[in-house]
Amino acid sequence: MNTDGAAWEQRSVARVVSPVQPRKLASVPFVELADGRLQGVVSSGSDIARVYVSSITAGTHAFNCSTNNNRPCGGLRGSPCKHLHDLAGAAVLQYGLDQVARYLHVEVGDGADLMSCLNGRHEPTPGAMVFSRFLRHLSYLELPDTTEPIAEMHWFPAMGAVR
Ligand SMILES: [Zn+2]
Repeated sequence: MNTDGAAWEQRSVARVVSPVQPRKLASVPFVELADGRLQGVVSSGSDIARVYVSSITAGTHAFNCSTNNNRPCGGLRGSPCKHLHDLAGAAVLQYGLDQVARYLHVEVGDGADLMSCLNGRHEPTPGAMVFSRFLRHLSYLELPDTTEPIAEMHWFPAMGAVR
């Protein structure tokens, strides 16, 4: 850690705009709208070593929740488990209710809760792809600080790029 790094940290703290509600990163570390689904990784409330892959399909609103080893979630008894509720809550914080509702093709009335407007059934969905993308996402967070280009990040617009 050098003095430049410390100064940069202080600046960045001052500039961060507080979210409306704190995003519960610890409980839902990964959320995405992809493959026609709202899907993500949700930590177990009781066991920090266990995570669930939860998903809701756009259109049909079929839902699924399983462990990262593809075991069905014990909380799914004909209706969405706590992890699916956590996933929906995190998605609304991250993308906004309008975008999530549009993606899933669901009408959410004023003041209504997204999950209560879904009427899908439980339908097993493979979670392995979601989980492997989550691990890739984590590997970027764990990269050491560097100013060297990272090949996989090239699609981000470069700062000060010549147009
Ligand atoms: Zn679950």
